[in-house]
Amino acid sequence: MISQQTIDAIFQAAHVEDIIEEFVHLTKRGVNLKGLCPFHDEKTPSFTVSPARNIYKCFGCGKGGNAVTFLMEHEGLSYPETLRYLANKYNIPIEETALPEEYEFEKQERDSLYLINAFARDFYGKQLFETDLGKSIGLSYFKERGLLRKTLDSFELGFASTNRDELTKTAIQAGYNIDLLRKLGLTNDHDRDFFFNRVMFPIHNLSGKVVAFAGRHLINDKKSPKYINSKESDIYHKSKVLYGLHLAKQAIRKEDYCLLVEGYTDVLSLHQSGIENVVASSGTALTVEQIKLIKRYTRQIKILYDGAAAGTKAALRGIDLVLEQDMNVELVLLPASEDPDSYIKKVGVTSFRDYLDQEAKDFILFKTNLILKEAGNDPVKKSCFN
Ligand SMILES: [Zn+2]
Repeated sequence: MISQQTIDAIFQAAHVEDIIEEFVHLTKRGVNLKGLCPFHDEKTPSFTVSPARNIYKCFGCGKGGNAVTFLMEHEGLSYPETLRYLANKYNIPIEETALPEEYEFEKQERDSLYLINAFARDFYGKQLFETDLGKSIGLSYFKERGLLRKTLDSFELGFASTNRDELTKTAIQAGYNIDLLRKLGLTNDHDRDFFFNRVMFPIHNLSGKVVAFAGRHLINDKKSPKYINSKESDIYHKSKVLYGLHLAKQAIRKEDYCLLVEGYTDVLSLHQSGIENVVASSGTALTVEQIKLIKRYTRQIKILYDGAAAGTKAALRGIDLVLEQDMNVELVLLPASEDPDSYIKKVGVTSFRDYLDQEAKDFILFKTNLILKEAGNDPVKKSCFN
């Protein structure tokens, strides 16, 4: 158990406005700060933070509390996990008192799930950097894509070996519970590893904890999909996660827009080039929950499409949802046969930013043009726009 002394130090250090600002865009109103409530839907801010009293209160839905209760409720962390998160943030060493034995077994399951994912992340990282296979297959793939060690470390990338039960065995040896490994989808029903022979992309929540993994295989095998993802669990709901957001959130607020791309590697290469306000919806069509995540930091979204996707209706899926959330949406189409990675390498970051500014098209105009084009000379369809 965490000692009372440590808990007191944490409560003293934790400023409610520091904590909440990581998740909610706050603006100054007199002595208080105000923002859109993350706990209920609203268009005008009634979520109020008082630095002087070190508390928050929403006058819309009534939620209120301090830094600790905010993190527990908002991030779904347990009390001890929240204390650890804050201790880490404020560099407070954690002093543990001896634990009554039964506590060991009563640790909350969610905490255990996060711990196992962290273990798996470290395991896959070691496979990538310290094994021959990891280096010759995984690391050379990332290097070919021009990714630097710094980027691999920031995104905590890894490699799952060809051995089909290595993670499961190692985790069990280290004392982790097989049922929880199965719950996370890391181990299948036959007690073998779900991910093998793939480069691994951990998927993080807003506070940077690993909630799931995506694995990309590097062989040309039409029978197995290029990317596979962890199944949903108590800590992973794919419609509520955006890839890269934990590293992008500060930049999104600073630039006051969020750049949405299609692939994990697009996020990596743009981030590495210095465009950090970038996220991907990781294979799913954009969801309302994902848009709400972005909305905490900005009301502007630029959606970047490969030249190949230009003008297709599929590319526009999900955008009506964004508009319903009262967000400004612009589309940017890359020149034909370019993707974000190839294009930024070709023109460099300054021209890339210029391109984003100059080529961004208002979504409503874009869509109207598309429908008009489809309607052709059909007077009935066309009349909808007169
Ligand atoms: Zn509220």
